Amino acid sequence: MTGGAPGELLGLTDLAVHFTGRRNWRGRYPPPVRAVDGVTLAVGHRETLGLVGESGCGKSTLGNAVLRLVRPTAGQVRFDGRDVTAATGDELRVFRRNVQMIFQDPYSALNPKLKVGESVGEPLLAHGLADGEALGRQVNELLDLVGLPPERATRYPHEFSGGQRQRLVIARALALRPKLIVCDEPVSALDVSIRSQILNLLMEFQQRLGLSYLFISHDLSVVRHISHRVAVMYLGRVVELAPRDNLFREPLHPYTEALISAIPLPDPIQQRKRHRIILKGELPKPTAPPPGCPFHTRCPIAQPMCREKVPPLEEKRSGHWAACHLRN
Ligand code: SF4
Repeated sequence: MTGGAPGELLGLTDLAVHFTGRRNWRGRYPPPVRAVDGVTLAVGHRETLGLVGESGCGKSTLGNAVLRLVRPTAGQVRFDGRDVTAATGDELRVFRRNVQMIFQDPYSALNPKLKVGESVGEPLLAHGLADGEALGRQVNELLDLVGLPPERATRYPHEFSGGQRQRLVIARALALRPKLIVCDEPVSALDVSIRSQILNLLMEFQQRLGLSYLFISHDLSVVRHISHRVAVMYLGRVVELAPRDNLFREPLHPYTEALISAIPLPDPIQQRKRHRIILKGELPKPTAPPPGCPFHTRCPIAQPMCREKVPPLEEKRSGHWAACHLRN
């Protein structure tokens, strides 16, 4: 499934987000930043799609475009069978009820001046779904759901640990009973010991509440833990998309191979023996992506044709897509 497939909850077709800078003193615009450059993807019902790539590859901008926090330059966003790319008014309001976000930093995601019960209940109040005693009851249920004692609703965020704050952020995201949550690096700011607790909590809610996740992370081991399928992004494009086990067992794109080779292995003997692929050079600027395959400037197996022709994202094996001229 890349887009438009049955079972699709969220669908993106040729989605692009280009940012244009200000005119210079000669009245000319600088080249646009091609943060997202023609992405076609789908997230199914009750599915977790992991989205990985280096910092600056466009994955967070893609998440923001899905949430309509930035306006797509081109392409389409569908949700539950409806085109919501240009939704406004009631349509946008319903969409925003159904799609919530969990950000990286639980410290800044909660208003330090509000009691945590007020923060968790704020979406219910804003959407006119509960107030008064009913609101208090629902806040208590949400705190209980994420494993926090309801009597702590009157405390302030600074009285909670990092892991507890991320639980509060999750409780707030669940308040409107969404169908999809966009998780942008939700455990990156947490201690390693707390990460698996939060990931397991998200997985438990997927089972209990039938949620879907678009799970954005630079950390492949985290994505491997939680995802059903994984999409790998490079310079604003998806270069590989596959079911999780296929991707980790048999990556097809040289960029994915390099990322996987950098994951530390728990066994020190295996770790010493493994061949790590070191990519040369830096990620090219998204204002001037290289011609042909965008990865050719760093690819260890690039051929002359790679500099001329853009490889399309093709289904090389059943459900396993890759954008590479040389891999079949
Ligand atoms: Fe490397 Fe060429 Fe494949 Fe691009 S198309 S990933 S440069 S081999």
